[in-house]
Amino acid sequence: MKKALTLFILFLLVITFYAQVKKHPCSAASIERKKSLIENETPYYPGDAFIDVTYYFLDLNITSSPDYLTGKVRVDFQPSGLLSLTEAFLDLSDNMTVDSVKLGGVNAVFTHSDNKINITLDHSYGQGETVSVIIYYQGVPSGGGFGSFEFSSHNGDPVIWSLSEPYGTRDWFPCKDTPGDKVDSSDVWITADDFFVSVSNGTLEAVETNLDGTKTYKWKNHHPIAQYLISIAMTNYELYQVPWEYSSGNFMSVDNYNYPENLDSYREGQLDKVPTMLQVFSDKFGMYPFVDEKYGHAEFGWSGGMEHQTCTSLGYYGTSVIAHELAHQWFGDKITCADWHHIWLNEGFATYLEAIYDESQNGFSAYQNDIASEMNSARWANGSIWVEDISDVNEIFDGSRSYAKGAVVLHMLRGILGDDAFFDAMNAYANDPDLSYSAATTEDFQAVVEEVSGKDLEYFFSEWIYGENFPSYSYHWSYAENNGQYDVWVYINQATNSNPVFFTMPIEFDITTTKGNSYRTTVFNDMQEQNLFLMTVNNPPTNVTFDPDNWIFKDAQYVPVELTAFSADQKDESVLLNWKTATETNNKGFFIERKSSFVQTNSGWTEIGFVDGNGTTSERHEYIFSDDSPLFGIQKYRLKQVDFDGSFDYSKIAEVNFDAPLTFELEQNHPNPFNPSTQISYTLPFGGDVNLTVYDMLGNNVETLSEGFKPAGKHTVEFKRNDRLSSGIYVYTLKVGKYFESKKMMLLK
Ligand SMILES: [Zn+2]
Repeated sequence: MKKALTLFILFLLVITFYAQVKKHPCSAASIERKKSLIENETPYYPGDAFIDVTYYFLDLNITSSPDYLTGKVRVDFQPSGLLSLTEAFLDLSDNMTVDSVKLGGVNAVFTHSDNKINITLDHSYGQGETVSVIIYYQGVPSGGGFGSFEFSSHNGDPVIWSLSEPYGTRDWFPCKDTPGDKVDSSDVWITADDFFVSVSNGTLEAVETNLDGTKTYKWKNHHPIAQYLISIAMTNYELYQVPWEYSSGNFMSVDNYNYPENLDSYREGQLDKVPTMLQVFSDKFGMYPFVDEKYGHAEFGWSGGMEHQTCTSLGYYGTSVIAHELAHQWFGDKITCADWHHIWLNEGFATYLEAIYDESQNGFSAYQNDIASEMNSARWANGSIWVEDISDVNEIFDGSRSYAKGAVVLHMLRGILGDDAFFDAMNAYANDPDLSYSAATTEDFQAVVEEVSGKDLEYFFSEWIYGENFPSYSYHWSYAENNGQYDVWVYINQATNSNPVFFTMPIEFDITTTKGNSYRTTVFNDMQEQNLFLMTVNNPPTNVTFDPDNWIFKDAQYVPVELTAFSADQKDESVLLNWKTATETNNKGFFIERKSSFVQTNSGWTEIGFVDGNGTTSERHEYIFSDDSPLFGIQKYRLKQVDFDGSFDYSKIAEVNFDAPLTFELEQNHPNPFNPSTQISYTLPFGGDVNLTVYDMLGNNVETLSEGFKPAGKHTVEFKRNDRLSSGIYVYTLKVGKYFESKKMMLLK
């Protein structure tokens, strides 16, 4: 399914990016898959888990004046497990009225409430025994445009159509309303006024004219089909057939049912492209799955497309929508997501195949543009691709997550595996004997890809399907001469994410050298902070490009200074900061910034010093800065690394809990005696209003050195004599609330 207009809205995303340096690389936290969350959920929500449906036969009588549906639907099913069945339920909206339920031609006991028909079976049915139940019902199916049955009009003429995904099938026929349990085949008969050309899945077996002037279209689908892929579409269609030669001398018809007023405008531009699309997808993913029946489009009133099996409903005839719905015939219809948690197996795949078709017609750069566009959309994805809340239709069909990010995941998988293994794996999945014409979960897909590629991809699926967001890398490269050659290294650091904490990915790099040569190499980044050897080259490298072909959905930022360590530790009455660089480029130096947890000073980062850098160097350097007036309690420090051109980056934060003193202390000034100035220090166990004043021996106020609120910690002030002061003894006094202490000092002129 694809809604045409909303998916084209582009958003801008502003990402605040802080380069962070991690002191201790931590191992990948194992990601608990969310499978456990659904253990207690009814399998294949919301259908009856105890039945296995095998056949639907819809015999529908539909009128447009008034809007009305009268139906006779046969559903065949068997016990799904070892337990024998004495009762079962089918899903049917309470909006419809059930007239009777028959088993073997005899009325069965049933109730119809909570959108379920509960049926008491005529006897106990054991394993392998088929229940064939016929439900007679009528009413006006609910409408609304999404997951519904619609009575509408075009050009003043009536048009009637269904769009059942995800929970709308029960609105118009009794079924087991889950995608995971397909029937083996289905029949849809539609009787209506002879104005209508009525279209459904599979092949048209007969069109019969009835005595009352109505016509009955008898459609037969010979393949397994999920309930939501069964459709009807009916109006005064004109049929436009385009042949597709799928093998030498063998043709399948692409049947386009269009509103007469629209056919000409769609014909050459769009509809004639479909055989090419069929060929492109068949070459890559195996023969079109329903080649023995047909493919086609039935125009309807919803602005987008819906991949009804062999008979896509289409309201918008754009190339990408046409390719998308056709792609679903493999991924969605032939292999259907087992439940809506795994909807990306439908929508992510169909969205990805839009880019594959574009690539086949317009080349790899067109493909790359499509992927870049999906990545932009995927930045808006919230939560995991595995849909947590499948009761919410908008969660299931979240465009940025199930569609865009799902497509991006396949793109990344292609990057990891390479083209050959990737397309082999996609083909193997589409044709897997246990999954094709059946249903699959993410784990099924993963197992096929691992089998074909021989790679363990647990990290990939855990992070990208069950995790959230995307990696944010900062990186720095450097090289060292080695016997006339040059060893090139890259340093990678990832910002901390919620789940996973960081991403494990192979990353490709492009190295260019002074001779203009270019080399590609891939390294496996499996730590949050990592120094990785890239390769040895013959000439000094001039540039190293991170992921040059954009295989990874990410942010990546080059940082000019490779900081390998940064720590803060208490040493006596100071906090000692220590950091190391492996290489530096154009580094002017480091501003040291501090932030205190102490409430009155918690107003932000304060600059407390600057240390010169070493410009451009590939030598290792160690730096030390001593904060001699630290505040007490938890102190945070960070480095603001500044280039000569003014650009800057922040380091990660180093933290220290500086021990609070137990008492007030007023220290002896130093130097003492002094001339012309001396330092006076005091420490406070908690913040308070202080007064530090110098008096002469007669008690005259010479100068107040410190006044007002001071936070806990050590404070140092300077006293400078003025010319009027004579040599001799002076007294300095600290008052903080009830605390009071004085000391003497000597000025020697
Ligand atoms: Zn779709």
